[in-house]
Amino acid sequence: MTTTATLSWCFEDVRGFGMCVGGKARVLRPTTAEQIADAFAEVKKDGGSMALRGAGCSYGDAATKQGGAVLDLTQMNRILAFDPATGVATVEPGVTVRDLWRRAIGHGFWPRVVSGTMAVSMGGAAAMNIHGKNNFALGSFGECIRAFELLTPRGELVRCTRESDPALFHAAIGGFGMLGCFTKLEIETKRVHSGRLRVWGIVAKDLAHNLQILEDMKGEADYLVSWLDLHGKGVALGRGLMHRADQFEPGEDPEGLRYLDPLLQDVPAKLFGLVPKGWLWPGMWGAVHLGQVNLVNWLKFQAGFREERKSPYLQSHGAFHFLLDYVPRWQWMTKPGGLIQFQPFVPKAEGERVLRTLIEKCHQTGFVPYLGVLKRHKPDPFLMTHAVDGYSLAMDFAVSAQKSRREQLWAHCRDMAEVVLAAGGRFYYAKDAVLQASSFPRVHGEAAVQQFRTLKAKWDPDRLLQTDLATRMGV
Ligand SMILES: Cc1cc2nc3c(=O)[nH]c(=O)nc-3n(C[C@H](O)[C@H](O)[C@H](O)COP(=O)(O)OP(=O)(O)OC[C@H]3O[C@@H](n4cnc5c(N)ncnc54)[C@H](O)[C@@H]3O)c2cc1C
Repeated sequence: MTTTATLSWCFEDVRGFGMCVGGKARVLRPTTAEQIADAFAEVKKDGGSMALRGAGCSYGDAATKQGGAVLDLTQMNRILAFDPATGVATVEPGVTVRDLWRRAIGHGFWPRVVSGTMAVSMGGAAAMNIHGKNNFALGSFGECIRAFELLTPRGELVRCTRESDPALFHAAIGGFGMLGCFTKLEIETKRVHSGRLRVWGIVAKDLAHNLQILEDMKGEADYLVSWLDLHGKGVALGRGLMHRADQFEPGEDPEGLRYLDPLLQDVPAKLFGLVPKGWLWPGMWGAVHLGQVNLVNWLKFQAGFREERKSPYLQSHGAFHFLLDYVPRWQWMTKPGGLIQFQPFVPKAEGERVLRTLIEKCHQTGFVPYLGVLKRHKPDPFLMTHAVDGYSLAMDFAVSAQKSRREQLWAHCRDMAEVVLAAGGRFYYAKDAVLQASSFPRVHGEAAVQQFRTLKAKWDPDRLLQTDLATRMGV
């Protein structure tokens, strides 16, 4: 399916969302599957390798290729079809979560699984098999995919469903761009009967309380997520503010029908209608660099009591899900060093012990995350899954520009990873920058790794698709 047109590559600095990994690469932004095939052929002819890249929202090196080639899929961003009767969308890989919900909501649909930012692309969401705040209930993004087209490095365009090729279906989804490029995806969305959610803020006095709330509510809530003040020590260790959100049943929120208008969902660009949100990150930079993060966390925790008193309250889907998008370029607050996120997934039985140990290790080393987010998960059927029947704790660390301090942070994270792996935990490559190749079989099990390598050899025999992550993990 190749063409004879010349491809125009350009050299760019291609980094992870956390800005601290990645580097110069030659980049191509194809607009058709034919151009992707051409790029595959060209790079293969040169004996090189290339990374696929969506919106670049992975925190680490999952979509970077230092000194190599990067295929940026953001220009393939058309919603090819949306069925207003079923809510099924057929999309190109560069369509974002934002594009999808904007198209769906007016018809009374919302994506079943969304990440904490709406900038993520469908191709990237499928390749990482992303999860939302409802992972414990509705599972992962891959479970909403009916079918996809995958352009493999062998040059074939394969249409794949669960039934037509279960092995490829369950390995390409969550296969971090190693088996081929998604060129088209069919995605199911879900019915919503209001443009709003009913939300509760619940103060959790410590880690055990947080975990207990997740267990007590997971049978009935639609969404659960807890912000943790990881600076809390002793009896306050693991304290935080849980958010529960429920959808409305048909007819329960007639006023909320108005909010099915996409314009009433979007996060406002100004704070109090005055201050552009893009100006907030310098203030946050000050908090990070002047050592005020513990104070900010304490204030946020105290504000939780007020929120709990006014609960339940109503919030648009957009405002509930995409809190981080309220502050554009918030990651700049960690400049010049950038940030990493470390998100271990821990089985339920080991949850409290392991998470407590990790938080204590943070206090002992002095690397205390400025942000912690706790979620409940359930297993999914994908080969390279990161999910467990248990919990994840996403920890955001500001990275020092000083090399020795940065190395100490990496060592601290690897030390924490040992605790997680010894307890049968897993990791999520969208949020990783520190794991080593020796961890790869420990995360997934030898059998799964072997099966994945066999599929890689079948669909990508020349090992054309490589990222910095894949090299680091020895895929
Ligand atoms: C603020 C923020 C909040 C987040 N919240 C969450 C969350 O709540 N839950 C969650 O699960 N994740 C979350 N993430 C992580 C994010 O969802 C994943 O990193 C996701 O994969 C990013 O999609 P992307 O389009 O940016 O892909 P990229 O980061 O560009 O790429 C991700 C992977 O997909 C591969 N890839 C990209 N396009 C294709 C394609 N067309 N075909 C095959 N492979 C492809 C790449 O090679 C790479 O391995 C968050 C990220 C940020 C920045």
